[in-house]
Amino acid sequence: MVVNLPAMNSSKDKLIHDVVIIGGGVIGLTIARALALRGVRDICVLERGALGTEASFAAAGMLAPQAEADSRDELFNLLWQSRDLYPNFASALKEESGIDIELDTTGTLYLAFSEHDQTEIDQRYEWQTQVGLPVEKLAAAEARMHEPCIAPDLSGALRFPLDIQVENRRVLSALANSVSQLGIRTLCGINAESIEKHHQRVKGIQTSDGFIACETVVVASGAWTGFLSSSVKIEPIRGQMICLTTTPQLTRHVIYSPRGYIVPRQDGRLLAGSTSEQAGYKKEVTVGGVTKILDNAMEIAPAISGLAIADAWAGLRPKASDGLPVLGPCGEIDGLFFATGHYRNGILLAPITGELLAKTIVDGVTPAILAPFSPDRFAAINVS
Ligand SMILES: Cc1cc2nc3c(=O)[nH]c(=O)nc-3n(C[C@H](O)[C@H](O)[C@H](O)COP(=O)(O)OP(=O)(O)OC[C@H]3O[C@@H](n4cnc5c(N)ncnc54)[C@H](O)[C@@H]3O)c2cc1C
Repeated sequence: MVVNLPAMNSSKDKLIHDVVIIGGGVIGLTIARALALRGVRDICVLERGALGTEASFAAAGMLAPQAEADSRDELFNLLWQSRDLYPNFASALKEESGIDIELDTTGTLYLAFSEHDQTEIDQRYEWQTQVGLPVEKLAAAEARMHEPCIAPDLSGALRFPLDIQVENRRVLSALANSVSQLGIRTLCGINAESIEKHHQRVKGIQTSDGFIACETVVVASGAWTGFLSSSVKIEPIRGQMICLTTTPQLTRHVIYSPRGYIVPRQDGRLLAGSTSEQAGYKKEVTVGGVTKILDNAMEIAPAISGLAIADAWAGLRPKASDGLPVLGPCGEIDGLFFATGHYRNGILLAPITGELLAKTIVDGVTPAILAPFSPDRFAAINVS
């Protein structure tokens, strides 16, 4: 797919902004757009590479709060609410940018191949039906009626009709167009080196291209957040992905097993993922990673063994020490906000992150739903 990002500004002629957002991934761009739609005028997105080329580009685009959830906790509620925002988000982006983000509402299947897998899905079915969530239990034959490509040694499956998917690279293109239409400045190729403060108030950002003065900074720098704030510890978790080509498409649903997943795209690509590795900042695709992903994908659908490999890549998921996103104002430094640590769910969480961060910055009041995700849950925030 061709990613159509608009021309980027590479130099700055004005050094003062109301809000500077560090990071031009799905999170930074969504917050910038939401702020502009709330009337904030002078917004700048600072990106050290090109917009939308890191984790957000590497993702699979699944919007699936239910498929892997084992309880209804605060994160589940946030994921669930963000998924509900996606239909409106998709149509607004289409209107603003002309780009269809390919929101596909076919649903998700989660397969069990062993007794152990079956126990896992039985438990998931039980708690989710008890709290009234939509989930269907399927016998092996029923699952294979939905998707004949599924391996015959299946023991059972769940179907999550509301766990859907989106083409995340199109989301990035749409967001980049939209922020450009809204008059948001994007400074690409510039690294934010430190956040400067005076008497516990933000006064600007020291960058590789000089100082930018601003009253509000939003740190949306994904897996690299730790370089700007040592107290908000975000670890990079590498995820590798393989892109296969299929015509006609092998499956309509997103299909998971406890070991991997496959995701069909409208243009005939089939994504197979993923790994979860502590490999520092290395974004390599490895022999071990590829082998594991393909084995798990072929367990789901043996016909995958005959498909051509079109591409492979890796991205770095931003994970906080407790695995939860880090969202909201920093209590100790006025004007400093964090929107990071989205780990495995940053594409899903983008719309609600944009809405809640913009609301917090504009209204000056933090919505209660953000309390469990406050940056203040870590040690005293330090930025330089
Ligand atoms: C293989 C894989 C599969 C995934 N699948 C899914 C999925 O199906 N569904 C889902 O919801 N999520 C998924 N995710 C997770 C999702 O991709 C991330 O949670 C999300 O992209 C995080 O977005 P972000 O904007 O915070 O980070 P990024 O997209 O990484 O953006 C951060 C940006 O900040 C910039 N930056 C960093 N430091 C600085 C600095 N000092 N100065 C200037 N710029 C800086 C970086 O260059 C980067 O562009 C997946 C991730 C991976 C790797």
